[in-house]
Amino acid sequence: MTTFAQRAAAILPGGVNSPVRAWNGVGGEPVPIASARGAWVTDANGREYVDMVGSWGPAILGHAHPTVVQAVQEAAARGLSFGATTVREVELAEEIRARYAPAERVRLVSTGTEATMTAIRLARGATGRDVIVKFAGLYHGHSDSLLVAAGSGLATAGVPDSAGVTRGTAADTIVLPYGDENALTDAFAEHGPRIAAVITEAAPANMGTVTPPLGFNRLIATLCRNEGAVFVVDEVLTGFRAGPAGYWGIERDADLATGVDPWQPDLVTFGKVIGGGMPVAALGGRADLMEQLAPLGPVYQAGTLSGNPVAVAAGLATMRLLTDDVYAGLSRTADALATGVSDILTEAGVRHAVGRAGTLFSVFLGLAQAPVTFEQAAAQDTAAFGRLFHALHESGVHLPPSAFETWFVSHQHGHVEIEHVLDAVRAWANSETA
Ligand code: PLP
Repeated sequence: MTTFAQRAAAILPGGVNSPVRAWNGVGGEPVPIASARGAWVTDANGREYVDMVGSWGPAILGHAHPTVVQAVQEAAARGLSFGATTVREVELAEEIRARYAPAERVRLVSTGTEATMTAIRLARGATGRDVIVKFAGLYHGHSDSLLVAAGSGLATAGVPDSAGVTRGTAADTIVLPYGDENALTDAFAEHGPRIAAVITEAAPANMGTVTPPLGFNRLIATLCRNEGAVFVVDEVLTGFRAGPAGYWGIERDADLATGVDPWQPDLVTFGKVIGGGMPVAALGGRADLMEQLAPLGPVYQAGTLSGNPVAVAAGLATMRLLTDDVYAGLSRTADALATGVSDILTEAGVRHAVGRAGTLFSVFLGLAQAPVTFEQAAAQDTAAFGRLFHALHESGVHLPPSAFETWFVSHQHGHVEIEHVLDAVRAWANSETA
């Protein structure tokens, strides 16, 4: 009999529409998901799992939040797409700026890839320079110039770069080890006047979750300012999830608490949470830069479905539900899970490290210390992760099928879900060391 995975693979390359959904990193065949509600997903066989994937970030309020679903239904009934500006998309952009001040102007797009791709084009257009600096293991979507030494699905598949990216494009992208201040300073000393932009994730979360070394984001900001390059902060994953103002907000608050002037991004990208599960992403930033976008300026960018009214309804409803209380709850859940998993593994004698960035965390098996560089992250025990993944799956916990991903929590992950995950991890840890 043909399995679902075989049927899917006979029509979709690899059986998926996005490589991170395949189970290549952990082995086995994925079962299709039929529905999701709150913190739980249900597969096509009717089995339920505590969901630690959260649609790879968007499901911050849990799945099918009634207010968000209602907003989508009402918007759909008013028409699916107009190809003209709506009140709601202005409201969503205002909501973003109110929480994240460096986004002085906002352009809505449909995917994080479009947002970062546009940021790079805008930086090149504004500076008249070609070179982009990125960090190994950080993922910024699948546009050509950013698909060099990217993490996420490429890390899982063990491929450094994508085929089909021309040598010329790759040659304009300088890749540095993350967190390495000397490498960054040297790159500016050597190539400074040619550097259009440095792009970084506000906190890396596509090689597992990594805490940015203290002062690293600030150093990038300073070097960019001194050299006239554009500092692009990618908050597609961290934005409005790591904390109320993304990971930038966490560093800003720490700076303000110690009387230091916070560093500022020139451009910032969002996605995931701001669409609440629908295709919405955004580029924001300094007004003078953003106003170089068409139709005001010479840098072209467009989209038939940009600011789509149904998608924007989901995003706006989600953003409006994200109160300080929600973030406090997410923090408590992330603490309980990260600490709980770590304590269980320690007690069972399973070597591991936990990476944290606000409400984001991931578990690196086989490492004694949380990694900073991709090289360090890649040294984790991915085979052990595969065993953990399958044991948890059997116990009704749906982890991201890769050792290089964040474990996503939602506002609906409560005591029951936390205990369910911890019990499953305990059973696995004991079987590993038995
Ligand atoms: N930037 C970061 C930091 C991401 O994590 C992702 C996706 O995971 C992207 C960009 C690309 O976003 P999308 O998948 O919506 O194109």
